[in-house]
Amino acid sequence: MNEKALCEHLKDLMRTPGLSAFEAPVREVVAAAWRPFAPKQSVSRLGSLHALQPGAGRRRPSILLAAHMDKIGLMVSQVVDGFCRVAEIGGIDPRILPGQPFVIHGREPVFAFAVLPPDALLPPDRKSEAARLKDLWLDTGLPAAEAARLLSIGDPVSFDQEALELANGRIAGPSLDDRAGIAALTVCLKALSARPHRFDVIAAATVQEEETLGGAFTSAFSLQPDLAAAVDVTFAAGPGLPEHKTFPTGEGPTIGMGPNVHPGLCQAFLRAAEKAEIPHKLEVMPQHSGTDAMAMQVAGEGIPTAVIGIPLRYMHTAVETVALSDILHTGALLAEMIFALDDTFLDGLTWE
Ligand SMILES: [Zn+2]
Repeated sequence: MNEKALCEHLKDLMRTPGLSAFEAPVREVVAAAWRPFAPKQSVSRLGSLHALQPGAGRRRPSILLAAHMDKIGLMVSQVVDGFCRVAEIGGIDPRILPGQPFVIHGREPVFAFAVLPPDALLPPDRKSEAARLKDLWLDTGLPAAEAARLLSIGDPVSFDQEALELANGRIAGPSLDDRAGIAALTVCLKALSARPHRFDVIAAATVQEEETLGGAFTSAFSLQPDLAAAVDVTFAAGPGLPEHKTFPTGEGPTIGMGPNVHPGLCQAFLRAAEKAEIPHKLEVMPQHSGTDAMAMQVAGEGIPTAVIGIPLRYMHTAVETVALSDILHTGALLAEMIFALDDTFLDGLTWE
């Protein structure tokens, strides 16, 4: 897949709704994108998509590749005249919300802006304070009766912002966390379909990562793979950020190491990256990784799990930004690691 095709695929994913626990619309888009490479698909009871690409090995062990398809957003908690109060889904930084366009998925799509009272009309002690979610309203412009007809408590609310192609192969917009990971799995499945590999590969577009990890817990439990890898975003470097906790965009994915990552699997990814000359960084994860890997690692008797990170700027905003080349390299890294898996790999995999 080249950058142009990847960009179009990402735009399809980014413009499709699918907040945590409301993933059905995006699941259709992912299923269609994966079908040419992994036609045997199923949906878990919680709504995660599983797509199998069979291996050619004697023992047919399996690796589960997980990227979450849910995204952050808001939920209507009260409708007052043409205005809505909202609760957050998935951890939104309220500082970035005022002035932001949204679409409320009501009886029909309803467009709205997130608004605060003008600073000039606030009492002196509240001027210039950081925006708080509880003070924020969505203004739909609707008359009260029409708002009551179209909107209900519990309606999900998405950022209404188109993807924007920036210079230098960067793309910005909402929900790149973790639709970038989904796209990396598409790249991987395409590469795997061109060459035989020993392991069964199950790509999973998981649900509810942002809130419960429920998709990853239940998919790993039901599929019982021999290996697993979570593909998610990680903090990219940028102005004003600590260099030792962030990773440059355009210099490849990160390979996680730490308690949430099996050291043997980490080494296998590092070897594959070096052999195929795929740019990458080692990412230290001394605590939990904050990804689907947390859930997959402890499924059943425990699954050797890895974490692959795509550097992303402005996480959990409407202008998340990634380098397309990092997504292509992530997909290539996953595929190269899987091509390198042989029938004896699992026998030599010990936690040391
Ligand atoms: Zn994520």
